[in-house]
Amino acid sequence: MSREGDWTTFLSERLDDIRRRGLFRDPPRLAGTQGRHVQRPEGRVLNFSSNDYLGLASHPAVVEAARVELDRGAAGAGSSRLVSGTFEAHERLEATVASLKGCEAAVSFSSGYAAATGCIPALCGPGDVVLLDKLSHACLVDAARLSGATIRVFPHNDLSALESRLKWASQRHPRGRILIVAESVYSMDGDCCPLKGIIALKECYSAWLFLDEAHALGVIGPRGMGLAAACGLGDRVEIQMGTLGKAAGAHGATIAGSRHLRDLLVNSARSLIFSTAPPPHVAAAAAAGLEIIASPEGEQLRLKLRERIAEFARLLGETGRHIPIFPVLLGCEKRTVACSDGLLADGLWVPAIRFPSVARGSARLRVTLTAVHEPEDIVRLAEALRRLDGKLPERNVVRLADNPSR
Ligand SMILES: *Cc1c(COP(=O)(O)O)cnc(C)c1O
Repeated sequence: MSREGDWTTFLSERLDDIRRRGLFRDPPRLAGTQGRHVQRPEGRVLNFSSNDYLGLASHPAVVEAARVELDRGAAGAGSSRLVSGTFEAHERLEATVASLKGCEAAVSFSSGYAAATGCIPALCGPGDVVLLDKLSHACLVDAARLSGATIRVFPHNDLSALESRLKWASQRHPRGRILIVAESVYSMDGDCCPLKGIIALKECYSAWLFLDEAHALGVIGPRGMGLAAACGLGDRVEIQMGTLGKAAGAHGATIAGSRHLRDLLVNSARSLIFSTAPPPHVAAAAAAGLEIIASPEGEQLRLKLRERIAEFARLLGETGRHIPIFPVLLGCEKRTVACSDGLLADGLWVPAIRFPSVARGSARLRVTLTAVHEPEDIVRLAEALRRLDGKLPERNVVRLADNPSR
């Protein structure tokens, strides 16, 4: 067989395998903007797929902030932050985050993925230990692997398992550093980490904490500043990561903490050093998004979001929810895709989340609510889900009856 034939065979066999397992994806192209509705190729549908929790991705002030920067004539930053890519917009964004988070300093990255993979290897290496929650986002897993540190995974939100790994790490690596990595809100499950307990353990074992606030920033806490702020524990978390492409409505991410942390990352985070800086207009849009998040308008948007969450939870027979992520756990990949397609035919876009976003066999529909949804949207979705299956949810994961004949 020719080399060209091998290559083509390789690609088509890989793709066939992905398709066979119900994991093939072909992202739909959207017209217009993120919002309550989105225009998909099939038509206009209600959007329950976005992490734009407050509707800021299309907010006039966020768009205008980008436009002002663009009007200065630069579409790109031109080089890495360390060479000639640091502009006023980057510094303004970092000052905004530091001030809102009550930290000494912050440093921005071109994405959450880049922030994690730049930061963790800058802090840990061979001889150190990274303790990862089982449900950690892929960028945290990749960052831990990239660092070369020993990785130990603990069962999701299990404090006693975390403690036993801390004990192990401090005995086994007495001179190594120990970094605990947790998320404020788990993106595919919609639950929070037990932050207080994690901090108590971290201090007991002289470990450090990297807290990924991707889905908490803008959504919870005073002025929308996330879980650490909600618990009043911001000053006891060494590394606070926030992303700017979700509730902030723009793109990018920041790491907030001490001035020394910022300086160390600027000097050793490879994703910052060896990558072109985010365009200034993106940094400006992100700063504008954060300012809205922290403003009375942001408070109003969170109030509206909480009303939608409470209403949807009530319709599903749940109580005590305050996170706008509702997973409907179905398990089977193909069945989840069929359910998502069925909802889409009803004009409701609820994405099918599958491996590698979640473990194999734990496929789910992931409903995200936003402040731009109207009460009737929530009712329509709840009715459609009930039509899908009459069963009511358990705890924070909505479980529909497992019926393989479906
Ligand atoms: C989305 C997400 C990231 C990655 O952020 P990007 O800016 O999209 O690269 C990191 N962590 C968590 C928990 C996320 O949900």
